[in-house]
Amino acid sequence: MAVYNPKSLRAEEFINDGEILETLEYAEKNKNNIELIDEILNKARPQKTESGTVCKGLTHREASVLLACDIPEKVEEIYRIAEEIKLSFYGNRIVMFAPLYLSNYCVNGCLYCPYHLKNKHIARKKLTQEEVRQEVIALQDMGHKRLAIEAGEDPVNNPIEYILDCIQTIYSVNHKNGAIRRVNVNIAATTVENYRKLKEAGIGTYILFQETYHKESYLKLHPTGPKHDYDYHTEAMDRAMEGGIDDVGLGVLFGLELYKYEFAGLIMHAEHLEAVHGVGPHTISVPRVKHADDIDPDVFDNSIPDEMFEKIIACIRLAVPYTGMIISTRESEEVRGKVLNLGISQISGASRTSVGGYTEEERPHDSEQFDVSDQRTLDEVVRWLMENGHIPSFCTACYREGRTGDRFMSLCKNGQILNCCHPNALMTLTEYLVDYASEETKKIGFELIGKELTKIPKDKVREIAVQNIEDIKASNRRDF
Ligand code: SAM
Repeated sequence: MAVYNPKSLRAEEFINDGEILETLEYAEKNKNNIELIDEILNKARPQKTESGTVCKGLTHREASVLLACDIPEKVEEIYRIAEEIKLSFYGNRIVMFAPLYLSNYCVNGCLYCPYHLKNKHIARKKLTQEEVRQEVIALQDMGHKRLAIEAGEDPVNNPIEYILDCIQTIYSVNHKNGAIRRVNVNIAATTVENYRKLKEAGIGTYILFQETYHKESYLKLHPTGPKHDYDYHTEAMDRAMEGGIDDVGLGVLFGLELYKYEFAGLIMHAEHLEAVHGVGPHTISVPRVKHADDIDPDVFDNSIPDEMFEKIIACIRLAVPYTGMIISTRESEEVRGKVLNLGISQISGASRTSVGGYTEEERPHDSEQFDVSDQRTLDEVVRWLMENGHIPSFCTACYREGRTGDRFMSLCKNGQILNCCHPNALMTLTEYLVDYASEETKKIGFELIGKELTKIPKDKVREIAVQNIEDIKASNRRDF
């Protein structure tokens, strides 16, 4: 039987089933142990030190105890600390992005995904390079600067060369007000050699959702195709890092398996990356399974209640305080509004989950991956964020200046990211408002920027930000 070892490169040792089961037992046994819970909450709380605010994070066992705890005042405390951590390291900034679906050809048999090979009524599409260009222009016309590309797994229709061509095309489109500045990639697990090629193509984060950490369920949910190989899928981030990719993004498709098991597995995966590579995941995504074509909605449709989903997000925030957290348009405006305060740092806006969807007048459904709950325009999402006190940020400066992987994390840990991120967010928001926003959004935005500028502590930095914002308004651009 495999023994738990976070430093191992073998999936069965770092996502060790025995350790997860023991963790769940430990959490259940201690869910009313007030002394222990208080100790864990104290550990999670941000501490002020001479070098700034720091957080210790939590182990998977500690975090699992909090997730199991139902004592109302302790749960309230978890939410309070999550909010405090969010504000300490990310401030009120929310990074904006959009997914770009390249191809829905897929040879896998994932039971929850309409791209599965046997689905004969979904329209199969793969963008040509000219269509990629048109999609990017449509996304740039909305104001997007950061994309996550998505594709099914199909070595014939979507080989790595196709993905690389698409990335090159995306970066080369410079329509009206500036190019896409960061392309994150969500494609199937692949080889070290292919990860190296993606790195050379200049990708941002490599994102791969584990779907479920529970091996037995994983094998059943992925009955056919290359994705059936649990170990190959689970060890993908190690190969990505070996291939030179600094920033990797984890995620679980919540609703497939028992959430407590998934939660422990996710935090263990983060611990493993930290133990082996010295840097944890750059982001964690929290998708919930949605209704989709050819998928039984009674089996797979947001199978965890909203309150539990919110608690999971808050507990992830406490466990891995320096990791960005992403929420997509799978979630409604209401749910997104709540979880933004509990630790989410990136959201998508105006997403279309169909191949070629951005160039269509009406939202197409024939090649869609899943139903989108939040169907607002980017302008509406940006305005809504600002009305709720958040700063939508289109900044990608860290990535372009090489602040990735452990360099990003150490800046984040020293509180330095906040010092430069806040002014950068305000400058890129100004760009967005000047170039794309409706009059109403502009009005709310410029008022917010005026207020937020006064929060920049260093006089010199504030003066530079004020000057840059004036320059942008006068249409003299720099690249932030
Ligand atoms: N093909 C790649 C792979 O298999 O990892 C990644 C691309 S896939 C388009 C992106 C993600 O969509 C999957 O990892 C899965 O978690 C999610 N997804 C699939 N079906 C879904 C559904 N019905 N509801 C919500 N998310 C879904």
